[in-house]
Amino acid sequence: MSAPTIAAVLAGAKAMGVDRLDAQLLLARALACPRSWLLAHDDASLDAPQAVRVNADLLRRARGEPLAYILGEKEFHGLMLHVNANVLVPRPETETLVDWGLALMTGALARVPRPRVLDLGTGSGAIALALKHALSAARVVGVDVSPDALAVAGGNALRLGLAIDFRQGNWWDELGGQRFDLVVSNPPYIEPGDPHLLALGHEPRIALTADGNGLAALAAIVSGAPDHLESGAWLLLEHGRDQAAQVTSMLVERGFSDVRTLRDMAGQPRCTGACR
Ligand code: GLN
Repeated sequence: MSAPTIAAVLAGAKAMGVDRLDAQLLLARALACPRSWLLAHDDASLDAPQAVRVNADLLRRARGEPLAYILGEKEFHGLMLHVNANVLVPRPETETLVDWGLALMTGALARVPRPRVLDLGTGSGAIALALKHALSAARVVGVDVSPDALAVAGGNALRLGLAIDFRQGNWWDELGGQRFDLVVSNPPYIEPGDPHLLALGHEPRIALTADGNGLAALAAIVSGAPDHLESGAWLLLEHGRDQAAQVTSMLVERGFSDVRTLRDMAGQPRCTGACR
C-alpha cells in the first residue's frame, strides 16, 4: 500500500460518510498521537501498518459500528470505561441518573453513613462505578444477567480501583432478602418493533428491548422493589422519553411517594424516581 497522507485519509473518510471528528480520533489512535498533532500535520504520511489499521477502523465506522466499540473505550461521568459489543455504550443521558443518585446520597440519604446502592442491569458497570467513584463510602452492588457484560464491568472496576460487588442474576432474583438505600437502573426500554433500533444494531439487543411496549423490564424492577428497599430508600429509573407517565403510575401503584421525573440534557423526560 502506498503511504497516504493524513489529509488523504480524512478525504477518504469523508467519502465513506465517516464523521470528521470520528476519523480524526481513529487516526490519532493509529498514529499514537494527540488529535491536535494531526490538525497541524495533515501532510504527514502514515506508514503501511498505520494505513492498514486506520482503513479497517474507518470501514467498521462506515458500517455503523459505534466509535466506542472500535476505540474500545468510552468516557462516562468523568471515568474512562472499556466497552465492547457485549455492553451498551454508556450514554450522556444516563449521567442524569447518576447525578440524581449523587444528589440523594449527599442530600436525603446523607443520614446513612455507608449507603447500600444497587445498579440493576449494570452492563459496563457505568452507573455503579460512577456512584462509587463519587462516594467511596457507598457499598455498591451491580447485577447483570449477562456474564459477558459482567466481565467488562469487572475489568473496569479493577482498572479504576473501585470495589463493586458484581453479581449475575435476572433483576432481583439473586438478591435474596437484601435491602438497599438507593437502587438505580437503566434497563432495556425500547419496544422490539421500534424503527429506532435499526441504528442500534451493533449493540446487545438484551440491553435495549423489552416487551409490553418497552415497559416489561421497568415493570419487573418496580414490582420487586418494595421487598428490597429500606423505608425512605429511593428507586431511580431511566426510561424512554414517552414512558414517564406509565413509570409514574407503576410507582404510585406500588405505594411509592415523592414520584418525580427529571429531563436529560436534551430536554427529554428521561428518569423517574420515587421514595419508598
Ligand atoms: N437510551 C438508549 C437509546 O435510546 C436506550 C438505552 C436503553 O434501552 N436502556 O439509544
